Amino acid sequence: MIYTHEEVNTENKAIREWNEQLFLANTDKLIYRLQNLPHDCGDWDCTSKFLSANSCRCMRDRFDNEWELQFFKILLDLYLELKISKAIQELGIVIEN
Ligand SMILES: [Zn+2]
Repeated sequence: MIYTHEEVNTENKAIREWNEQLFLANTDKLIYRLQNLPHDCGDWDCTSKFLSANSCRCMRDRFDNEWELQFFKILLDLYLELKISKAIQELGIVIEN
């Protein structure tokens, strides 16, 4: 896909403005996001994704800034690790180191 300079500049400006937002961890919002995972917009549905990858306009709409998105990803990893550990425990599987 080919983009004009204006489209690239507009996208870069949107990311800069997104990252100028103050990051205030809102735990209620983050817990809600863990329970209602944001879906990936998909390569074909989002032209912004071609230019900005995971910082596309869909993610910019869902998260206050890139820090919040990164923080959410860390929480999601921990949350999934906990869920998997619980499931393994419930199955009675013993994992030896
Ligand atoms: Zn998108």
